[in-house]
Amino acid sequence: MSKLGGQHAVVTGGGRGIGRAIAEALIADGARVTIMGRNMQTLQTAADEMGAEAVVVDVTQQDSIAEAFSKAALMQAIDILVNNAGAAESAPFHRMDTDMWHRMVAVNLTGTYLCSQSVIKGMLDRGYGRIVNIASTAGLTGYPYVTAYSAAKHGVIGLTRSLALELAKKGITVNAVCPGYTDTDMAADTVANIVEKTGRTEDEAIASLVKHNPQGRMIQPEEVAEAVLWLCQKSSGSINGQSIAVAGGEIL
Ligand code: NDP
Repeated sequence: MSKLGGQHAVVTGGGRGIGRAIAEALIADGARVTIMGRNMQTLQTAADEMGAEAVVVDVTQQDSIAEAFSKAALMQAIDILVNNAGAAESAPFHRMDTDMWHRMVAVNLTGTYLCSQSVIKGMLDRGYGRIVNIASTAGLTGYPYVTAYSAAKHGVIGLTRSLALELAKKGITVNAVCPGYTDTDMAADTVANIVEKTGRTEDEAIASLVKHNPQGRMIQPEEVAEAVLWLCQKSSGSINGQSIAVAGGEIL
């Protein structure tokens, strides 16, 4: 039997980018996968293409999370949760407004907390679970102009570490994966933003991002997915509370 055969995984933000690569990797390893996100059209198309289930959620809305996770758990109890949904906005700190602060914390940190809480009771009842949080290198170190995003992702690392300890004897592991700049819509938006705000060319903007990575390149979503897949295996049961950078050596 394939390694994840018989298991049900939920991937938030699984309709595109890193989340989609994670969902595809989990399916290839035998898991039943439910992808969640706000845009039903993107989700359904992706779900049909990869053979997943699609459920709408807005991870910034508690009611929406409750509804989505009950729907998913009714299909099959959830063994694996990948908290991947996220967003990145940037601004110089002195110009950032409180709404942006709240948006970054809501989608990246509170969403991770609420989605994890939605699956935890079932995992405790069954004595098994894997939770993987997609944080960022910005959760492990600082970068200019992304204070709110970086603070939220540091929060995700703190949540990961503390929850991992709390659940250590319950058969549940909680880990984080921290990608560097990864080739998705999010990175494309960052490049477009740099071009608009600085007048640099697209190539110069990309170069300014990849210079952080000692390998001098963007990470591919499939590389992040490989790390997540490993953490989701039953055989990775002793890997707990870790924050694994997938960033070509950017964080040592
Ligand atoms: P994308 O912008 O390509 O995708 C973001 C995903 O999150 C989409 O599927 C989107 O779906 C979903 N999403 C966004 N907001 C919400 C919401 N409120 N409720 C539910 N779903 C939501 O980003 P990436 O694939 O690049 O990023 C995935 C994760 O990886 C994020 O947590 C990000 O912070 C992290 N990351 C990304 C890096 C990068 O360089 N790309 C680097 C480091 C970390 P929809 O729009 O349909 O809701």
